[in-house]
Amino acid sequence: MHFQDAQKLRDALLIVGFVLMLGAHLYAPLLIPGAVTALSFVIPDYLYNKCPHCGKHLGRNTKKFCQHCGRSIK
Ligand SMILES: [Zn+2]
Repeated sequence: MHFQDAQKLRDALLIVGFVLMLGAHLYAPLLIPGAVTALSFVIPDYLYNKCPHCGKHLGRNTKKFCQHCGRSIK
């Protein structure tokens, strides 16, 4: 998985999980699936959100260059 796809998946999991947890206000059983979904953001973030050159974690970096090695990541 490309790191940009991992970042999109991470953000989508956080948003969907947060919306589910908000929905728990109306339907309480949504709380646990929402929390699990939101917390599962760590999987693509930890496994695939890495620089293709140095392999270090990119975090929230959406720029053109790795903040660790300075090489282009686009
Ligand atoms: Zn790097």
